[in-house]
Amino acid sequence: MGHRITLIPGDGIGPEVTEAARLVVEATGVEVTWDVQHAGTAVMEREGTPLPDRVLRSVETNRTALKGPITTPVGTGFRSVNVALRQELDLFASVRPALSLPGVPSKYTGVDLVVIRENTEDLYAGIEFEAGSGALQRLRAELRRLAGFDIRDDAGVTVKPISISGTRRIVRFAFDFARRNGRRAITVGHKANIMRFSDGVFLFTAGAEAQFYEDVWFDEMQVDELALHLASEPETLDILLLPNLYGDILSDLCAGLVGGLGLAPGANLGWEYAVFEPVHGSAPDIAGTGLANPIATILSAAMMLDHLAETGAARAVRRAVASVLATGGTRTRDLGGTSSTVEVAKAIAEASHEELDRADGPG
Ligand code: ATP
Repeated sequence: MGHRITLIPGDGIGPEVTEAARLVVEATGVEVTWDVQHAGTAVMEREGTPLPDRVLRSVETNRTALKGPITTPVGTGFRSVNVALRQELDLFASVRPALSLPGVPSKYTGVDLVVIRENTEDLYAGIEFEAGSGALQRLRAELRRLAGFDIRDDAGVTVKPISISGTRRIVRFAFDFARRNGRRAITVGHKANIMRFSDGVFLFTAGAEAQFYEDVWFDEMQVDELALHLASEPETLDILLLPNLYGDILSDLCAGLVGGLGLAPGANLGWEYAVFEPVHGSAPDIAGTGLANPIATILSAAMMLDHLAETGAARAVRRAVASVLATGGTRTRDLGGTSSTVEVAKAIAEASHEELDRADGPG
């Protein structure tokens, strides 16, 4: 039986890179019916919102989506579509692997990390008070009354909630992920010495849960120390478990360790739904030029195939990416090449097909 998958092309380079991923998935022979749903700036004028309800309904029905990046329109009053999707579908776990690939210019070798980021709380929860607003005046008065805190009258405020229940589920997810994927260690990044009642909750909840998973090593590091560690010896780290904001920042850093945003895949997962998308944004500077590297989205599609239990196809796509990169001839400009998005996609599609033939063949 085939899979029905919501395909959200997105903005900027999104349509090009998702089309590339679709080509590669189809080359594996896995049967997919794509339910194409446009979102983002392209539909905003027509439908009055960048995230029409039909997009959410489609993901709820199909349960799985492949998504291109979507630009957050600044100053329109709309919140980020990416954040809204994660919150509406309760996609509480973001999984972003960073793996050294053959033939990719990088200062580091042997990196094999996974960033697991809590996706719904922290400073990204969207609880904000604009400087000078009536709501902020009332908040200031209340904070002064409650605890004697004095906030400057020209300050804006963003609230950082981190709950025990929200942390517990991401910690359990991370340990289960480690077990399922044969990984040995989890390092929690935090700043619990400064933010005792938000990062503190994250750290102590993680520590308490870790006791139930004796087979996975558990460690913690202040996030600034972790950044230094990533810059000096990233090959010694395994899974990084992070609250929302640190996870966002460090996953881009980890992408940089292994060759840049053009290679970094991602998944947003909840108990019910899964949305696969590259770490990078819509890169409007290169949209429509054929310069976009499709590999981040193709590797996101490989994560999606794994999620759909199409493990043979997922493995073939990953091997195909590695072999095309190792050969060196076909690569986009960000990796020092001259090939177009479509040329890279076709080379990977062909190599995936060959990998599957080899897997099926004798011996
Ligand atoms: P957004 O506003 O959607 O976050 P952005 O341009 O600010 O988009 P990114 O798209 O994440 O941020 O990336 C920054 C830069 O990295 C881009 O301007 C582009 O030059 C480069 N880049 C990102 N993704 C790719 C890619 N897949 N292939 C090649 N270059 C890329």
